[in-house]
Amino acid sequence: FHRLGDDFTDNSDDEFTQSVCKNTKTKTNLPGDHRITYLDPIVLLYKYITFCILKGYFLYPANFSYLAPLITYLDIVTFKDFNFNDDLFEGVSSMGFTTPTPIQGMAIPVILEGRDIIACAQTGTGKTGAYLLPVLDIIAKKDSKHHTSTLILAPTRELAQQIDQQAEGLAYFTGISSIAVFGGGDGSAYEQQRRGIQNNVNIIIATPGRLIAHLTSGILKLNHLTHLILDEADRMLDMGFYDDIMRIVSYLPKERQTLLFSATMPGHIRTLAKKILTNPEQINIALSQPAVGIDQQIYRVHDAQKTPLLQSLLKNGSYLSTIVFASR
Ligand code: AMP
Repeated sequence: FHRLGDDFTDNSDDEFTQSVCKNTKTKTNLPGDHRITYLDPIVLLYKYITFCILKGYFLYPANFSYLAPLITYLDIVTFKDFNFNDDLFEGVSSMGFTTPTPIQGMAIPVILEGRDIIACAQTGTGKTGAYLLPVLDIIAKKDSKHHTSTLILAPTRELAQQIDQQAEGLAYFTGISSIAVFGGGDGSAYEQQRRGIQNNVNIIIATPGRLIAHLTSGILKLNHLTHLILDEADRMLDMGFYDDIMRIVSYLPKERQTLLFSATMPGHIRTLAKKILTNPEQINIALSQPAVGIDQQIYRVHDAQKTPLLQSLLKNGSYLSTIVFASR
């Protein structure tokens, strides 16, 4: 409130400030020429929304950054609170991250403490930064950076590449290296991955199948690994990677920090978590809700009932246009 009040002195020439001041009751001539400003809640909301629009916070609604100014005003948590290594902090600023997203605010302190976590968070919440930032900080503060200390497993090459891009951006000033390792592509991609692995790259972001190929060929040794991260674990299990994950884990030191991120928490994720995590802290952020006015319904049917059900739904509803998603 105090900080907002500072902006509302009526000797400002700024048109926006003047218009807001009209709605502000100001009591003057207090001893010491102090001035107390009372703000209408409506004006406060107006100011908050304007601030968000000017800062572009509504451009990325999915990552909760529209909460950023509120969190900043309330002084809840800022990136400074994490005492990151200076070079990492520079990377965070250059990426334009000013305030931690809720999942980052919750997960980063726990990971910095060295605890395992199982986090329920969807894409768009800032989950990649939630595990990359503390792990980069831990590596940056270590004396020796000449071995592969972190393995991030992801279900698809696209996700592996996205994580690698974010790692490169955040770690830009730290000298920490990372590489995305995935199947497909031509011989030169394989050769590049092999060279990165042989040069003891610090962070490997991999899809399970290709990683196993490098492990079994003997090129990749993960004896010094300290961090294992599973991103989109539910998707990896849906894609049939359970055995591959367990096989990869058998190559890793038992003494390590393991972080599991998943958009959903079905039973088989908990079973996996029990096998590979040690006394994990559980972190949940609210799952995204369907937009207001959208009615979601689930029908449990046998295969043979699917087409008649679809026909009946289309016949009885008055839909202007319809999209049907199918797995095959
Ligand atoms: P993710 O959920 O990790 O896929 O992140 C979604 C997007 O949010 C990415 O484009 C990130 O670069 C961005 N992002 C992550 N953390 C922050 C932050 N603290 N402030 C602003 N943007 C962020």
